[in-house]
Amino acid sequence: MTGPEYADAWIQKLKQTKVQVFLETMVNKIERKPDGSFKVFVISPNGAGYIETKSIILAMGCRERPAAAISLCGTRPVGVITAGTAQKIINTQGHMIGKKIVIVGSGDVGLIMARRFYCEGAKVLGVYEISQTPSGLNRNIVQCLNDYNIPLHLGETVMEVLGKDRVKGVVVAKVNPDYSFDLSTKRTIACDTVVLSVGLVPENDLVSGLVDLSSITNGAIVDDNYMTNVPGIFSCGNVLHVHDIVDDVTFEAELAGENAGEYVLNGRNKQKNYKTITGNGVRYLVPSSLHAGTGFVQVKFRVGKIFRDATLCAICNGEIIGSRKCKILLPAQMEQMMIDRTKIKGDVVIEVREG
Ligand SMILES: Cc1cc2nc3c(=O)[nH]c(=O)nc-3n(C[C@H](O)[C@H](O)[C@H](O)COP(=O)(O)OP(=O)(O)OC[C@H]3O[C@@H](n4cnc5c(N)ncnc54)[C@H](O)[C@@H]3O)c2cc1C
Repeated sequence: MTGPEYADAWIQKLKQTKVQVFLETMVNKIERKPDGSFKVFVISPNGAGYIETKSIILAMGCRERPAAAISLCGTRPVGVITAGTAQKIINTQGHMIGKKIVIVGSGDVGLIMARRFYCEGAKVLGVYEISQTPSGLNRNIVQCLNDYNIPLHLGETVMEVLGKDRVKGVVVAKVNPDYSFDLSTKRTIACDTVVLSVGLVPENDLVSGLVDLSSITNGAIVDDNYMTNVPGIFSCGNVLHVHDIVDDVTFEAELAGENAGEYVLNGRNKQKNYKTITGNGVRYLVPSSLHAGTGFVQVKFRVGKIFRDATLCAICNGEIIGSRKCKILLPAQMEQMMIDRTKIKGDVVIEVREG
């Protein structure tokens, strides 16, 4: 399915429910009332107002890091655009954004758009990635770059954008291990468009100060019911942590919805709750705590570096309560483990064992 087809399938399902949908309506403030319920302030073409509720699910997605976030030097001509915005302009408005395109960063949306630009008749001159490893999925490197002979330059980046009214070119250079530019490799490439795919940031401004946020994911800290530290506020999808594919977002959203409903009807989960702890090689874990009980619970995470022929282990009170062998583990790929709740008797460490 394409993105628009996937979205449409869910829109049709939503139409069959009694859920009220307010389009062009922005939530601009959430207030917690003394009785633990909430006032959600909204603004729309019909004016400002508020909704009172016992429970909220945060699903605001993420935003793309713009040029300023990577201190991109040069003038500010037309033709510097983020990959998601380019995707939106092509998919929803039917306009092409340029003819000779340089892509900065190897995030998945940038890789997917490289192929799309090629198919729409543009020349994609190259993808420049500052790190030595791509940040997008290997599948996308193969299917979106290699299959179309689009070069991927690792350890190289754009130093400067050239052009006054419209982009005329970029200056690129390799980077040293300390991320300074290797000026001996500096060269100019003529192009009319620079597309940025340099990371996504969960869109949590609305709740910063209200719920606790993780300094690693920039998303809320949640338990395995996807509830934040504020009872009644749940979080899921890209606003919680950046996902690679929409399928995982949907699965997580279904759980958050189910648990928010359960909270409204029966209050919070009263089972004993234990922490999840990052062990060797694991950069972050979602959720941050797990309830004991029956059935299985999913823990999602990313590793900090590439591991080959490794074993993922879930450890509780010194005992391995779950493990999975992996040929390769990549920082670009979200990993998951299913843990048997009956075995959760204390905090759970997730770690990578090499060899
Ligand atoms: C640019 C981009 C392209 C992607 N392409 C693919 C793809 O092709 N295939 C794939 O499998 N995955 C793709 N992904 C991965 C992505 O993780 C999922 O596809 C998915 O869309 C994320 O769902 P979400 O509901 O968390 O966020 P979103 O789909 O981003 O939805 C968040 C919504 O919240 C709204 N919102 C934000 N703040 C407020 C507010 N204050 N008040 C009211 N509404 C608000 C936004 O307008 C938006 O409609 C892509 C991700 C990005 C960022």
